[in-house]
Amino acid sequence: MAAARDARRLTGTTLVLATHNPGKVREIQELLAPFALTVTSVGDLGLPEPDETATTFEGNAHIKALAAATASGKPALADDSGLVVDALDGDPGIYSARWAGPKKDFVLAMSKVEDALQAKRAQDRRAHFVAALALGWPDGHLETFVGRVYGTLVWPPRGNHGFGYDPMFVPDGHTQTFGEFDPAYKHSISHRADAFRQLVASCFANR
Ligand code: IMP
Repeated sequence: MAAARDARRLTGTTLVLATHNPGKVREIQELLAPFALTVTSVGDLGLPEPDETATTFEGNAHIKALAAATASGKPALADDSGLVVDALDGDPGIYSARWAGPKKDFVLAMSKVEDALQAKRAQDRRAHFVAALALGWPDGHLETFVGRVYGTLVWPPRGNHGFGYDPMFVPDGHTQTFGEFDPAYKHSISHRADAFRQLVASCFANR
């Protein structure tokens, strides 16, 4: 994490969200609501999704933030995130979206995780979500923040809130899944909220 005093501040009034994922757009817009910003997304601007060719969450967030900042000429915020399952050696990890296939079917993706745990007869159901947030500027400058939330996987999935793998993830200290939580409560404890707090402290200090 960059030290707050070293980070470049966001000074303008417009921010581009470098994601086509509607679940992420919704969550990030809610997190950004208290700040005086006009928020638009790469989807609204008709910009393409770059290939995520990096091998880390941070690397893929950099690719997305710089692609959006360069194409739009405005600062852009990218989130690269995923579910890291201990017993699966970190899978699906940076491939979390890809495990859902071309139809972005997360019932299928959650079943793949459960099937892989069953195939290993895994007793260890520990997992964590990771979110790497990258704020990129058109001149190529980047600030990056990584957040995590730890928990356990349950089966069958429970709850209709959130998105992705939320219905099978119970964060530590709780009994409900992210899919059962009130969205505002998820925002207060999630990996994305953790990264977001770091971003705000470092880059939104004067807003
Ligand atoms: P990407 O960062 O767009 O490559 O995709 C991240 C994927 O990780 C999402 O499509 C979800 O499958 C999963 N993911 C990331 N954050 C969350 C979350 O807050 N809840 C559930 N799934 C998530």
